[in-house]
Amino acid sequence: MSEAAEKKIDIVNIEDTGLDQGIARLTPERIEKVINQIIDTETGVRLKLYVDTCVHCGLCSDACHWYLSYDRNPRFSPVGKVRQTIWKILERKGRLSPAEVRELAVVAYTECNLCRRCQQFCPFGIEIAYMIALVRRICHKLGVTPLYMQDTCHSHSAALNQMWVKEDEWTDSLQWQEDEARDEFPHLRIPLAKEGAEIMYSVIGPEPKFRTQLIYQAASILHESGVDWTMPATPGWDNSNMCMFSGDAEMAGRIVKEHFEAALRLKVKRIVMGECGHAYRAVYDVGNRWNAWKMFPLPVIHSVQFFHELLTSGRIKVREKMPGKVSFNDPCNISRGMGLHDMGRHVTRAFCEELVEMTPNREHNLCCCAGGGVINCGPPWKKKRVLGNSAKAEQLRRVADQGVSIIVAPCHNCHGGLDDIIHHYNLPLKLKFLGDIIYEYMEKTRAE
Ligand code: SF4
Ligand code: SF4
Ligand code: SF4
Repeated sequence: MSEAAEKKIDIVNIEDTGLDQGIARLTPERIEKVINQIIDTETGVRLKLYVDTCVHCGLCSDACHWYLSYDRNPRFSPVGKVRQTIWKILERKGRLSPAEVRELAVVAYTECNLCRRCQQFCPFGIEIAYMIALVRRICHKLGVTPLYMQDTCHSHSAALNQMWVKEDEWTDSLQWQEDEARDEFPHLRIPLAKEGAEIMYSVIGPEPKFRTQLIYQAASILHESGVDWTMPATPGWDNSNMCMFSGDAEMAGRIVKEHFEAALRLKVKRIVMGECGHAYRAVYDVGNRWNAWKMFPLPVIHSVQFFHELLTSGRIKVREKMPGKVSFNDPCNISRGMGLHDMGRHVTRAFCEELVEMTPNREHNLCCCAGGGVINCGPPWKKKRVLGNSAKAEQLRRVADQGVSIIVAPCHNCHGGLDDIIHHYNLPLKLKFLGDIIYEYMEKTRAE
């Protein structure tokens, strides 16, 4: 099928049990009541300012990869998404039909990555992502969320991790990875629940489930660097936060609280979070506000900052540079959101022979189309998502044409999204985390 023909697929009426069963339970009275309750009690001057200030100029349209990828269909422009959702809600004072609530959910969950690129191009700095997240909040309160995403949220609620990992499975996975790593580093331990350590290292739920080798690699880097570290044995080890994306703000706050409480119980000095963008955003952008914390209970940094610190302090050293050309994919949540782009490049340049920049880059980089929970809407929405980022595919193809064979992406969701794009658009590229490269190319003075 040609790309143009593919894009004519029905992108709205995709079967999703979570959405379909959710709207079957709704009545017009309940919809109106819930919407107005949220607008009245959870919004204020910020929403009013955004709605009243937007002049509908469309200057933000070209910033959105969905709009660019779907042939500039106005449906996908940032302001188009707001027009179809929050403006409709306000104009109609919450009087929407169940079918219209489904339409809100489709736009909010499956057509916006909350990547905040459009905000940079708006002359007034209007944050479209805030308004789309508010629509998700309404959908969550109405019980209309995509099935796959809701499953991860149920897991967070029941098990305090995203992947239904039981406590004994978590510790078994760590022990297994410790055994693996000891083949190379005979004295390596993954110190479990060690009180008073300098660092608590936390990961996202999919690591023990699907990407276990990342734990092995991180343990090797931490061991080689000689830092005093630990991982929690109890809930709080999973720093991911799908509830932030579903609109379940109460649970999103609880996840962040549990993460910090695990560290406080262990009396560590600070937390280092693995290579995930959204998990870090959940901490710096959302969790503190939901928990009404002025400051975090203890310092927390992302792996990119930590690797940069280990390298510049001489705790890890480069054995040899990885040959060939690489490019660095700036994850929205750590580059646009937290300005870690130069640290990421510093580490990449130290370990790689040549870094070729993709354009646009840094805080202007295009999102991978997986973030904001869109990849977590699962298989029913995958094709729409992958076609929604032909703009990224073109960006990647340009660096591939310059001889790049590896994309470094310090974010789990970026890996998922870029992997799908690379596969669908048949690009000659492979993906790596910074940890993959550091582990392979660092000096291993403690190995046998
Ligand atoms: S996907 Fe990103 S650029 Fe597009 S509307 Fe959402 S926040 Fe804006
Ligand atoms: S959000 Fe900003 S750039 Fe976009 S249409 Fe409104 S005023 Fe224009
Ligand atoms: S997955 Fe990566 S690129 Fe996509 S929104 Fe998240 S951080 Fe941004």
